[in-house]
Amino acid sequence: MGKQVLADVRVFDGSRLTEPVDVVVEGGVIGSIGGGQAHDAEVVDGAGATLLPGLIDAHTHADEAALRQALTFGVTIEFDLASMPDTMIPLRAEVATAADLADVRSSSFGLTTPHGHPHQLRGGQNDPDWPTVTEPGEAQAFVDGRIAEGADYIKVLIEDGHTLGTSLPALAPDLVDAVVRAGHERGKMVLAHALTVAATEIALDAGADGLTHLFVDQPHTPQLIERIADSGMFVIPTLSTLASITGRSDGADLAADARVRPKLSPEWLDNLSRSWAFQQPEQFRYALDTVAALHAAGVDVLAGTDASHLGAYGMAHGASLHGELRLLVLAGFTPAAALNAATSVPAARFGLADRGRIRPGARADLILVDGDPTANIGATLSLRAVWRGGVRLDLAAVTPA
Ligand SMILES: [Zn+2]
Repeated sequence: MGKQVLADVRVFDGSRLTEPVDVVVEGGVIGSIGGGQAHDAEVVDGAGATLLPGLIDAHTHADEAALRQALTFGVTIEFDLASMPDTMIPLRAEVATAADLADVRSSSFGLTTPHGHPHQLRGGQNDPDWPTVTEPGEAQAFVDGRIAEGADYIKVLIEDGHTLGTSLPALAPDLVDAVVRAGHERGKMVLAHALTVAATEIALDAGADGLTHLFVDQPHTPQLIERIADSGMFVIPTLSTLASITGRSDGADLAADARVRPKLSPEWLDNLSRSWAFQQPEQFRYALDTVAALHAAGVDVLAGTDASHLGAYGMAHGASLHGELRLLVLAGFTPAAALNAATSVPAARFGLADRGRIRPGARADLILVDGDPTANIGATLSLRAVWRGGVRLDLAAVTPA
């Protein structure tokens, strides 16, 4: 892999924007930033553009097509939060070398009840039986089974269907407690799906490390924000999904964008344009206000979309992360804070020391965009180039996924 110089480019380094500098990439990692001229290098003109760390989508359900699609939108790693090991085990081996796929981390199966969420949404997915737990003594075996499948963290779903327009058998709180303890026993984070205040309180009581959605059934209270802040947990609100659940998705606007449309198949454009609409539109305001309050209280908020398979309406891999950034800004984040939520913050919370920042020695997962996304968050879609591990993706050759 030859040396490349990204010349005369402003850098958003994962926290702030620099003046124009030269950035050297060699051997798949970032070399000097603002150093001397390099002679034996391919030069990429960065004038008028901004270089950012590759974007991180902290909540998806991934497969090979998803990771290919994500990378064309500058998402260089997805955190999968429930998938089938038959898919994920070979996929992990493939992403280690495939330069046209985003990287991935995964929980493998999530813990839910035999007929619980998300089984009601996965009818067409030909899933094997998901392993589960019926009494606390089985929790360690569940966690160890997922670790044997390569899980990087553990996922638990606390969902009675209330917010999803149905009624489902939910995990008992003592089982949630047990799986959090069992995950921590093995040094793994345990991340909880919760869409209601009641489910959030179960996750807090259990000591979960992060929330993979945000409650949308009620407005927040100062007490609940304080409790989340004091717990140290992070939150991946998935505003894109909450917008879909409340019939407020702006996926149709994304799907109509000339920077999105050519990269997605008609099926994905249609999927992106739809909404679940299980709840009232006014409830989306609850979520925006809660995200703002969490941010103000110092809670780490991570950008994630819950992009999944076709049929999970309102999202498409890669494209929706750009929508999520806009929704964070709508909630009151500065554009720079929204970018942090998709770069340095998730990298730090998931222990990826070589990602999420532009600094010497970091992996060269990079995006180059026209304009300044710290002034206009919409600029993130104006992708001029994407690099994964220092290998530049041929954006001109992208065909709809
Ligand atoms: Zn999900």
